[in-house]
Amino acid sequence: MDAKTIVEYHKKYNLQSWSKQAAINPLPIKDADGIYLYDFDDNRYTDMSSQLVNPNVGHKNRQIIDAIREQAEKCCYIAPSYASEPRSTLAKMIVDLMPDNMAKVFFTNGGADANENAVKIARMYTGRHKIFSRYRSYHGSTYGAGNLTGEPRRYPLEPGAPGFVKFFAPYVYREKIKFDSEKATADYYVAKLREQVIYEGPDSAAAIVVETITGSNGVIIPPEGYLKGVRSICDEFGIMMICDEVMAGWGRTGKMFAFENFGVKPDIVSFAKGVTCGYVQLGGVCVSKDIAAFFDDHLLSCGLTYSGHPLACAAGVACLNYYKDANILENVNKSGKALGECLEEMKKTHPSVGDVRYIGLFSAVELVKDKETRDPLVPYGKDPDGIMGKLIGELKKRGFMTYSHENMIIVAPPLIITTEQIEEELKKLDEVLYIADEMIGK
Ligand code: PLP
Repeated sequence: MDAKTIVEYHKKYNLQSWSKQAAINPLPIKDADGIYLYDFDDNRYTDMSSQLVNPNVGHKNRQIIDAIREQAEKCCYIAPSYASEPRSTLAKMIVDLMPDNMAKVFFTNGGADANENAVKIARMYTGRHKIFSRYRSYHGSTYGAGNLTGEPRRYPLEPGAPGFVKFFAPYVYREKIKFDSEKATADYYVAKLREQVIYEGPDSAAAIVVETITGSNGVIIPPEGYLKGVRSICDEFGIMMICDEVMAGWGRTGKMFAFENFGVKPDIVSFAKGVTCGYVQLGGVCVSKDIAAFFDDHLLSCGLTYSGHPLACAAGVACLNYYKDANILENVNKSGKALGECLEEMKKTHPSVGDVRYIGLFSAVELVKDKETRDPLVPYGKDPDGIMGKLIGELKKRGFMTYSHENMIIVAPPLIITTEQIEEELKKLDEVLYIADEMIGK
């Protein structure tokens, strides 16, 4: 099929996510290899967001492709009640990578249903119903996960399901109250959350759900002590701490799981994306020993036809093996250091760059009209003049492919990117930030 027909059919027969359908203009992709994508005119683009922050190992990874093919030759599908080698192997590999309090995995199709099942498990285990989650978080767009989500993508589900409680978490750059230290900010928010739990009734609280690092809403990294504080509230009241590692997990932050950066052990972890890097879709929920033991003699009332799909699990086994064989964490820390240095330089140089946040190869550039007032380049939830779209378009012209969210540009390349490639790509971002500077008249 030629590029024109692909685009024509896409527009005529597909409903594209999160878009006004008349406005879409998808780029047809002919090929993808490593960190690069190619269109039908053989233009090369660097995948600086790893698509939706998932192909961590880049495109066309031979080990994963071969593993999927081998599994397809043996058995493409077997129901969850049968034992199959890829599912058994992957579950063991995941538990082995998790902290020592974790025991078992329930596989799902992706991140949203991982969160849905995490919530069900917490409710069944605690016998309570209220679920706390945060404003600015994204946990998926299905009905239950959408109720966890704390930003406008949840609005179409409103008024929503009962029992979902939202709370604010620290966003150090945008705090209205100025605290003396990150720790003081964390303490304030932990105290407020504790108070909120008490007012909601701790005996009805099943879980507190956090994206360990808020991802699509701008790589908001929790200040020192914050997650420990959340952990201590959970311990005090017997509430399950659920860390959503769908985006931040699997090496993205320089540790296998983002919560390892903050010295906490969750009770439940939801994951997806980087577990198979999108070669076949897969998600899952990992639960603690206590929760696993509870379901020895209580019904686990969760089920999906494709739970632990053999092709997905085979891809997952190959993917986790690749992370180890390629010393992926070492590369993330090395290339991540270069990324951080380049971003800090940009913050110094460009009046339009208010803040840069980065950890490993997970980062966001927050654009403002004025560094002093921190007035966002585009107002929350709106971009009437398409300013962010223009900047993303300028990046694309230079072969730097990524996306924006509100007034932020996300930079989260595949974890295989080298230091040299980071430096080369960030020169393109630097050029485009001069255009942003002009837009604000500086
Ligand atoms: N949780 C987080 C933190 C995410 O970033 C996402 C997707 O971006 C999801 C959950 C939902 O995952 P999925 O799109 O696979 O349903």
